[in-house]
Amino acid sequence: MSETDDREQADPKALTDAEWRERLSEEEYRVLRESGTEAKFSGEYVDHHPDDGEYRCAACGTVLFDAETKYESGCGWPAFYAAEEESVTTTVDTSHGMRRTEVRCANCDSHLGHVFDDGPEPTGKRFCINSVAMEYDEE
Ligand SMILES: [Zn+2]
Repeated sequence: MSETDDREQADPKALTDAEWRERLSEEEYRVLRESGTEAKFSGEYVDHHPDDGEYRCAACGTVLFDAETKYESGCGWPAFYAAEEESVTTTVDTSHGMRRTEVRCANCDSHLGHVFDDGPEPTGKRFCINSVAMEYDEE
């Protein structure tokens, strides 16, 4: 996990595009920095349902989601009904001819996925997040 420690030390918003390319794998870069989407049911966390722990931003290490809020949505990507407070930002995204709400990491502004209003109680939200944008942490 020393790689994560390095990532947490620098101010991620000050990183240049070249520095991001150096830090991230090609697939991570495509999703996190170019708002890409991993293939449906391909991500390592789709069927990952630990009892506890948390999911951190793969780009900067910020805690994004608690494992307790993860649920099986059947949509092909990891789904959560809530995000950690103030860890994500949301903006309306009208790309690809759809009106969706994009979810980004509040700390490094990397793209994570989208949030929809068809989730379960208590929030009614479905945060549909790319596995490659996250790193699971047992703590
Ligand atoms: Zn981040």
